[in-house]
Amino acid sequence: MTAKIRLYVEHPLGEGQSVPLSREQAHYLFGVMRLGAGALVLAFDGQSGEWLAEVTQTGKRGGLLEVKHQTRPLHMPPDLWLMFAPIKKARTDFIVEKAAEMGAARIMPVQTEFTNAGRIQRDRLQAHAVEAAEQCGGTYVPQVSELARLDRLLAGWDDARQIMFCDEGLAGSTPTRPTGGGPWGILIGPEGGFSDRERGRLHAMECAQAVSLGPRILRADTAAVAALTLWQSTLGDWR
Ligand code: SAH
Repeated sequence: MTAKIRLYVEHPLGEGQSVPLSREQAHYLFGVMRLGAGALVLAFDGQSGEWLAEVTQTGKRGGLLEVKHQTRPLHMPPDLWLMFAPIKKARTDFIVEKAAEMGAARIMPVQTEFTNAGRIQRDRLQAHAVEAAEQCGGTYVPQVSELARLDRLLAGWDDARQIMFCDEGLAGSTPTRPTGGGPWGILIGPEGGFSDRERGRLHAMECAQAVSLGPRILRADTAAVAALTLWQSTLGDWR
């Protein structure tokens, strides 16, 4: 049996529900994947797990699914945010895709002093998070936030949430693992690294733990995946 197509839908799912398909979904299912009425797909809405659904109407601009039964419960990622300074488009796309696969609950592009990108296309990044969740078997889609300034974000920071501050200044020093439960945010800097002011501020925050990601300086996209791996295997849902 071939693997069923997984589809994220914004419509809430439940037994017997009829779910309208968007134009893009109809194009993908019926145009690209050549599914017809009666075909079965797996649908998830980010809130109620994964459901088996049957195509009951096909069209060029839309279609309809009918929900049969639940196939998997909702699996929420740990309360982990990934904050990163956006870099070149393709690498930023990569970070968003990997963060969704690795189980970040929220993806937050932040503008630091040395961030090159002045703006992001949030909707495009969100679509990447959706696609990643569809292909990795996730039942949850992390929200991608609008670009926010790091200094403002830190000024309003709730210190119940710890920060795993990935400080390239610590490259080569003995690696430390984040410790302590509760909500967390990982912070990755831009190609140019953090400014002295940012580094000083973060080191002064009690809720921030500066960590090394090993002896080499990683590119920001590599650092994001490495940091998520380190956190998930130490405090998250990989244990
Ligand atoms: N241009 C900077 C490096 C920036 S690397 C320099 O040469 O110093 C991009 C980001 O990845 C950094 O801001 C940091 O958050 C993270 N990073 C890369 N390598 C790291 C390491 N070995 N330890 C901790 N963080 C690292």
